[in-house]
Amino acid sequence: MANLSDAKTFLLDLIFPIACLACGEEGAYLCPACRSAIPIYPPACFVCKKLVPQNRHTPAGRTCASCRKKSLIYASFSPFPYGHPAIRNAIHHLKYRRARGIAPVLAELLRSSLVFHQVALPKNALLIPIPLHKSRERVRGFNQSRLIAQEYAHGLQQTLHTDILHKTKKTAPQMELLREARLTNLAGAFTVSDANVISNRTCILIDDVKTTGTTMEEAARALKNAGAGKIWAITVAR
Ligand SMILES: [Zn+2]
Ligand SMILES: [Zn+2]
Repeated sequence: MANLSDAKTFLLDLIFPIACLACGEEGAYLCPACRSAIPIYPPACFVCKKLVPQNRHTPAGRTCASCRKKSLIYASFSPFPYGHPAIRNAIHHLKYRRARGIAPVLAELLRSSLVFHQVALPKNALLIPIPLHKSRERVRGFNQSRLIAQEYAHGLQQTLHTDILHKTKKTAPQMELLREARLTNLAGAFTVSDANVISNRTCILIDDVKTTGTTMEEAARALKNAGAGKIWAITVAR
């Protein structure tokens, strides 16, 4: 046992054994059988979910021609169904039961799904996790999107930036609102603290779940207003 943190993990595992989030088998958060049974959505338009074939000029996940006018998202990828028990439980345990050990599992799923569908993310882009409002991060103890992005960023060419985009307006959770309220709830919720860093740069926003896409659009708006280049939106699930 290398250090105190390993010792703590070892003790926690004795009290709360790690079990598959889908079938309950002990040993890992996702057993190999359940992991391989999770469907992986192909890259699709951020707005209408239509499949956009990739070619030399169009990356996988490009927002389709008819939706470009109403979206600030250049391209996106949300590979896993939120309705799948393994995915829903994983995100729920990470967020509400503070099971931080699930972040690397989700990051690994994301990485392998990109490989599976041959989605090439732009090189030298800035990886920016969707921020939480300070007060909510204090209550939860961490930002799940930042944890996933940190794990995902290991050994990549994109650099992680967690101090540029901020959520400065406290808002109600999107999932608890009706559709109309969701659209206005997040208006002006995000601000950029250092426009120089993102000037003309491609940014990849990272979040756990895409619901209506409003969170990504509002975060993209803040980045665009501050001078950013193309905005990609990546979430684990939708
Ligand atoms: Zn299982
Ligand atoms: Zn579309």
